[in-house]
Amino acid sequence: MGRQPQLIFLGAPGSGKGTQASYLVKNFGYKHVSTGDLLRAEIGKGSSLGMRVKGIIDAGHLVDDMTVLELLKANCDTSKGHFIFDGFPRTLNQAKLLDEHLLRGCTTQTVYFKIDLEVLVQRITNRRVAPKSGMIYNLLSHPPKRPGVCDVSGEPLVHRKDDTEAVIRNRIDVFKSTIDEMVEFYKQKQVLKVIDANTDESIIRENLLSALALNGVNNDLPY
Ligand code: AMP
Repeated sequence: MGRQPQLIFLGAPGSGKGTQASYLVKNFGYKHVSTGDLLRAEIGKGSSLGMRVKGIIDAGHLVDDMTVLELLKANCDTSKGHFIFDGFPRTLNQAKLLDEHLLRGCTTQTVYFKIDLEVLVQRITNRRVAPKSGMIYNLLSHPPKRPGVCDVSGEPLVHRKDDTEAVIRNRIDVFKSTIDEMVEFYKQKQVLKVIDANTDESIIRENLLSALALNGVNNDLPY
């Protein structure tokens, strides 16, 4: 555990980052920090930050860097654990901010879940999430046992407002415009692993574990 790096997950919305992060949390003691979840929690609480960012998120645009960075800093202390950063960075500037403010002196590893952008729209429109348990379902490839209900918590599943087709196209465009510069940044730092995310989640998981040299996994877990 002591030698585990801090992990940065890059990938388009729907590339499987969140699902794989949950697996590492359950099996390897990582803490998952998703800036999308943090922002949605602020909206859910009705905080002034939440009210300010709601329209931006609903439209699939990016919230400004400093707002997201401050939220991230308030919610993770890298001196106290190993984190998976999911959804941050989303721009080269955020990658630099992350290094400077949260990862100074830490061993890090970046994983890029590379996926054919054409398959994403279908994947995301079929995504359903359970906000309390954090479970992520897909109506086609990983449906819940009872329609509309989380297997773990029994809570109703949610179709995120920004998981609709028009907004997804916007989010994919935003992703396409920023990914190359981040990939180049982490390549230069020699901390980049690229995983083929076009395939089944169990294969993605195997490839992820081997890229991170993690083993001793309990394969009986639900996903
Ligand atoms: P996600 O759950 O990661 O897909 O994020 C949902 C939405 O939250 C994004 O489409 C953005 O509007 C906003 N968001 C999440 N993370 C960031 C970030 N690092 N920078 C700017 N906006 C973000």
